[in-house]
Amino acid sequence: PPQPVYRPGFGSISSGGKVPLGLKRKGLRIVVTGGAGFVGSHLVDRLIARGDSVIVVDNFFTGNKDNVMHHFGNPRFELIRHDVVEPLLLEVDQIYHLACPASPVHYKYNPTNVVGTLNMLGLAKRVGARFLLTSTSEVYGDPLQHPQVETYWGNVNPIGVRSCYDEGKRTAETLAMDYHRGAGVEVRIARIFNTYGPRMCIDDGRVVSNFVAQALRKEPLTVYGDGKQTRSFQFVSDLVEGLMRLMEGEHVGPFNLGNPGEFTMLELAQVVQETIDPNAKIEFKPNTEDDPHKRKPDITKAKDLLGWEPKVALRKGLPMMVSDFRQRIFGDHKDSSS
Ligand code: NAD
Ligand code: UDP
Ligand code: UDP
Repeated sequence: PPQPVYRPGFGSISSGGKVPLGLKRKGLRIVVTGGAGFVGSHLVDRLIARGDSVIVVDNFFTGNKDNVMHHFGNPRFELIRHDVVEPLLLEVDQIYHLACPASPVHYKYNPTNVVGTLNMLGLAKRVGARFLLTSTSEVYGDPLQHPQVETYWGNVNPIGVRSCYDEGKRTAETLAMDYHRGAGVEVRIARIFNTYGPRMCIDDGRVVSNFVAQALRKEPLTVYGDGKQTRSFQFVSDLVEGLMRLMEGEHVGPFNLGNPGEFTMLELAQVVQETIDPNAKIEFKPNTEDDPHKRKPDITKAKDLLGWEPKVALRKGLPMMVSDFRQRIFGDHKDSSS
């Protein structure tokens, strides 16, 4: 399969000359909420490249105009500063609902997951649009089943520090299914596992962005707890491909979208050392409350029904993220491999 190509300058990833998905349905009107964010902006690139008209709705809570600025002036692109917690009237064919404060540093401040999702479902119902929810592997909580299959109901603390995110997304899934069953809205649910890549927020506290920024700044890599907890890291272009296949396909889901390659945080630190600086130091810090011990997607369902699986291994994807971070932190174009 063609490898994604990182184009320095604005962090775009193209699918290496492959014919983009859904060409036959050129010219859809698509809303991407949270489209100025990390995942959303890569999705917008693919949709615009495919020939669709895209409206990004974003309040710039964690997103950034820089992520979509290269589309300014394109008549098929519109950017609306709007908080999805407030109602919104638009006429569209598809809604990719990504808006959400997605990192632990941010997500406690906002009822986006519940109220924002309700509004976008109301919009989908009114105009007959198809609605895709970007849910999360966090719905499995600290899982008692490994790897996690979509049929697993999860192990979530309803009153913990992470609850507004976990439970917020669980509620969002419930709302989506209720609108599907009750109002006939065509919904699609993705459960996204940890994703990394260019344009990721530099200082939002997620582990890959922390380690990469720390190694570049010659600071120690902060490993929380004993570093033996695991996560499975997916490169953003794989996720975007999965989201588009899910939206275009006939299955509601939920579908796990993630890379089954599982790493302990110590192993991740080692990969970052190999990629950026073999002399980078590791510093242990206390772990956060309710931190899931392990997480790895079972992606059999997405493979079987969407014909999707990730293509980019961590050691392939990380350098593409590193050159973007290097450029944003230091403002230069030096490639990590040079
Ligand atoms: P991100 O923070 O880069 O993007 C979220 C975007 O939503 C930002 O542009 C932000 O400004 C916007 N936003 C937040 N609240 C809003 C509101 N009330 N109204 C309008 N816009 C709002 O995060 P991301 O990593 O790109 O995540 C995108 C989606 O994918 C989120 O729904 C997240 O929960 C989900 N997800 C991401 C990951 C991951 O590892 N990146 C994992 C699981 C799920
Ligand atoms: N909504 C919206 N845009 C629309 C239609 C609805 O933002 O085009 C909001 C609406 O304000 C409401 C929510 O979506 O808060 C749910 O709408 P729905 O019609 O399902 O519920 P109702 O308004 O009947 O309670
Ligand atoms: N983590 C870490 N060092 C950091 C940031 C996070 O060791 O600087 C750990 C964190 O405790 C968790 C894992 O990395 O076990 C993944 O954290 P992240 O916030 O990126 O994702 P999530 O917990 O939502 O999967």
